[in-house]
Amino acid sequence: MPRQSSKTKDLSRIIARKRTAGLLSLSEKALRDGNAELSRRYAALASKIQSHYRIRPSLRYKTCKACGSILVPGITSSTRLSSSHGYIVVKCAVCGKELHKVYKK
Ligand SMILES: [Zn+2]
Repeated sequence: MPRQSSKTKDLSRIIARKRTAGLLSLSEKALRDGNAELSRRYAALASKIQSHYRIRPSLRYKTCKACGSILVPGITSSTRLSSSHGYIVVKCAVCGKELHKVYKK
């Protein structure tokens, strides 16, 4: 099987990024409309695309790795700073899993 050229990989990554952003916005809209199951389905599809392609971290931190739900601040997640450790803590309100993002080096 022939290898994909880097140009084809870049194009597929651009398409994956657009699809992920679209699925995440649909997921957030479904969550705000009260359809949590549909929201989780869209977020799971977006997460699957993100894991296959290397999507930039800003999109990667929008879904919970443990339960697959979308992380909307104030609805399904809470955000706080841990200044002593130098990271941002995003806590999923559905399963309680915490994600850490380093902001200090
Ligand atoms: Zn979760």
